[in-house]
Amino acid sequence: MSSQLVDLSHGNTMALACVADSVVTLTNEAQLDVFMTSYSENTEHNLPLFVLSGGSNVLLPAALEAIVLQPQMRGITLMAQTDKYVDIEVMAGENWHDLVVHTVSQGWYGLENLALIPGLTGAAPVQNIGAYGVQLEDCLQYVRAYHLPTRTWHHLTRVDCEFGYRDSIFKQSPNTWLISCVGFRLHTDAKKILASYGDVRAVTERYAEQQGRLQAEPADVMQAIIDIRQQKLPDPKQLPNCGSFFQNPIIPQEQFTALQTTYPAIVGYSMPDAMVKVAAGWLIEQAGLKGGGIAPIVTHQQQALVLTNHTPYQATQDDVATAQRYISNAVYEKFAIQLSREPVWVNADGSIGYDEHVA
Ligand SMILES: Cc1cc2nc3c(=O)[nH]c(=O)nc-3n(C[C@H](O)[C@H](O)[C@H](O)COP(=O)(O)OP(=O)(O)OC[C@H]3O[C@@H](n4cnc5c(N)ncnc54)[C@H](O)[C@@H]3O)c2cc1C
Repeated sequence: MSSQLVDLSHGNTMALACVADSVVTLTNEAQLDVFMTSYSENTEHNLPLFVLSGGSNVLLPAALEAIVLQPQMRGITLMAQTDKYVDIEVMAGENWHDLVVHTVSQGWYGLENLALIPGLTGAAPVQNIGAYGVQLEDCLQYVRAYHLPTRTWHHLTRVDCEFGYRDSIFKQSPNTWLISCVGFRLHTDAKKILASYGDVRAVTERYAEQQGRLQAEPADVMQAIIDIRQQKLPDPKQLPNCGSFFQNPIIPQEQFTALQTTYPAIVGYSMPDAMVKVAAGWLIEQAGLKGGGIAPIVTHQQQALVLTNHTPYQATQDDVATAQRYISNAVYEKFAIQLSREPVWVNADGSIGYDEHVA
């Protein structure tokens, strides 16, 4: 366990300048108990707590006046095995993509569609990560988490986690839980593959064919998804970003139909209750902002939904807010649709902010 003033500019994939007052690295669960006991005994001088993992879904402030808890517990344990499935327990500090590659190489299937999502395993339940028709909750059995306000450990089942689309109890109650471990049930039956989403099926089948196989295997799905994602999304190591920056807005069918008369090519997907989910990337592109924004924060040339930072380790959260406001206003003026941000906005005291920074 260590505690010191730390520059977190390299600890967030958006590469925003950030210095934290204090960082505590946790490599096992007992360290958290020890830390929390001393923290609760020194309430007078204590800074607030903030949990940070891979930093791929956060917008950090220039000065983070909080104690940053970094769960870095490692380990993958095989808990049970039958001829149909395996149960594994994965510690929070395991890199997510490495876990996906490891499970597929073991013949344990279910996570392959979630390949190449940055970050650590402990953060994956927070927004119930999802991609290509699969969400984390499809394979998750339980979460072991520490409840910070009461200093108690909890075993949360999938139902307890209250998963929704990019949502969970952990996201709904920020600064409350620290996830230390995630339990998964994965299939050993290769027929469980899901390659029917978008362009994944065609690329998967091409891979299988190249390997001389009649039937595609989960490894082919994973490889197809890695390739598609590498083509579509900028690598944060080359061009800092935090993935999809804006959520796809959901608007009433009536409003969508009215927009269709002016913009016949508008991209939307029907939702329950006469609502339509509109492609935010299309809206931004039509507002003339593909590759646009306010320097140094601009949308990606190939994917307008992704904001990129062109002055890594110098640009700040304020620069992001300025660019976000500019893009949101341009989209609102053209379509009367309000865009919302997907990554977590972290305030100087470690609390989670909402859209109050945006006009
Ligand atoms: C290029 C790119 C592509 C992406 N693609 C996708 C995608 O396809 N699908 C998708 O769903 N997401 C995607 N993301 C978003 C991101 O990768 C995920 O949300 C990921 O799970 C975040 O993990 P992290 O370790 O970086 O978390 P962080 O960014 O460190 O934290 C995110 C939030 O979780 C909290 N948190 C972190 N660790 C814990 C813990 N152990 N216990 C409790 N709370 C915790 C933090 O306080 C914060 O609120 C993408 C991001 C990038 C940069």
